[in-house]
Amino acid sequence: MDTDVIVIGAGLAGLQCARRLQRNGQRVTVLEASDAVGGRVRTDLIDGFRCDRGFQVLNPAYPAVRDWIDVDALGLQQFGVGAVIRTATKTTTLAHPLRHPQHALATLGSRHTPVSDLLAFARWLAPTLRQPATGPRPAQDATLHESFEAAGLTGALRRDVLDTFLAGVLADSTGQSSANYVRLLVRWFALGAPGLPREGMQALPEQLASWLLEPVRLNTPARDLQHTADGVQVSTEAGTLRARAAVLAVGPQDLSELTDQPALPTHGLTTWWFRAPELPQAGPFLMLDASRRGGGPAGPIWNTAVISQAAPSYAPEGQHLIQATTLLDRPDGLAEEATVRRDLERLYQSSTADWELLTHHIVEHTLPVQHPPLREASPQRVGERALIAGDHRDHGSIQGALTSGDQAGQSVTRLLAG
Ligand SMILES: Cc1cc2nc3c(=O)[nH]c(=O)nc-3n(C[C@H](O)[C@H](O)[C@H](O)COP(=O)(O)OP(=O)(O)OC[C@H]3O[C@@H](n4cnc5c(N)ncnc54)[C@H](O)[C@@H]3O)c2cc1C
Repeated sequence: MDTDVIVIGAGLAGLQCARRLQRNGQRVTVLEASDAVGGRVRTDLIDGFRCDRGFQVLNPAYPAVRDWIDVDALGLQQFGVGAVIRTATKTTTLAHPLRHPQHALATLGSRHTPVSDLLAFARWLAPTLRQPATGPRPAQDATLHESFEAAGLTGALRRDVLDTFLAGVLADSTGQSSANYVRLLVRWFALGAPGLPREGMQALPEQLASWLLEPVRLNTPARDLQHTADGVQVSTEAGTLRARAAVLAVGPQDLSELTDQPALPTHGLTTWWFRAPELPQAGPFLMLDASRRGGGPAGPIWNTAVISQAAPSYAPEGQHLIQATTLLDRPDGLAEEATVRRDLERLYQSSTADWELLTHHIVEHTLPVQHPPLREASPQRVGERALIAGDHRDHGSIQGALTSGDQAGQSVTRLLAG
């Protein structure tokens, strides 16, 4: 045998799986098709700006992050807990009243937060707050939109804030995602203050990789997985590796390459990254557009933020980094740069003539489609000695990917011991 376990894929799930196996005393070899670790969590360094491959944030309240990540070493730069709401006539900052007391009056007195909606939102979230953060999931589930209707959440808070915010988080504007999945994410948003690592989001998988005794083999796609009498055999261009077991920690879209499982559907988004010499009017908050009649964005942008205001390390001193996100399930998800700029000018009420486009990421496979009911998290067996891990085996998030990887590591250890 060349090693005890081969892990295919060095995204968060594969890396945490390898780490768990290593801690359990197994020898592990990780194969990664790409030129760096991280999978969907990568950062491009462009002229001193850190542009994550698709805007995303790290929530330190995730139990998996609290347990397995050295968040202090990442130097998390936190966003404000709230959002700036842009309507056709004005902008309003809505923020967590305890974390940002200076915005408490504006938040509680805003027309976007009627008392009836705040009560309905509390009703909607309450079942999750009473549950343990991890463990068994409620049997009852519904789509997000059905659950909002059932809770009576039908007013301005939903129309101007929640629907738009959540569509950006889920890369899904249809409202068909599992309500229990969204409740989990909202609960962690309420408990934590998400932010960005000093060196960019890729610092998170790099930290996990740095703890592995054997370096991840980059640029080494697994081409084939065979089951043998005493384990598995994985072919790569560099040769064939034999091991007692394997974990496939590839993304949902790649499952069919190495197994007889179908590829799973995903939601996608795009992120535009601009540099600006002057600071646009905004705080360290996400901006949401509620200018369309009846709610929601009037243009292609579902959220935007001056990233460097929350995370100064993302831009060289004296310059500013702005992200704008569009959704691929919308007809204007692939809007041209000129359209995106026009939208940004409306949102920030400022010209973008001196803004320079740094890069534009089209992330087709952002998150697995997660319709109700939300399943219990579990690695899936494929053959005697191979398991599947990844966010699609738990729920689409950093928490889901890390937990799934960890569970797969524990399962393989038990399998080999048995
Ligand atoms: C734009 C965007 C925004 C997001 N926002 C958030 C957020 O704000 N908060 C949050 O919690 N989550 C967010 N997520 C989700 C989170 O990043 C993912 O759930 C998580 O990173 C998935 O990790 P994974 O290991 O399951 O899969 P992946 O990251 O997809 O890893 C799979 C790995 O397998 C490799 N691979 C595939 N085939 C092979 C092969 N044959 N051989 C070798 N290697 C192979 C791939 O190259 C990849 O590195 C976001 C994701 C994106 C893309």
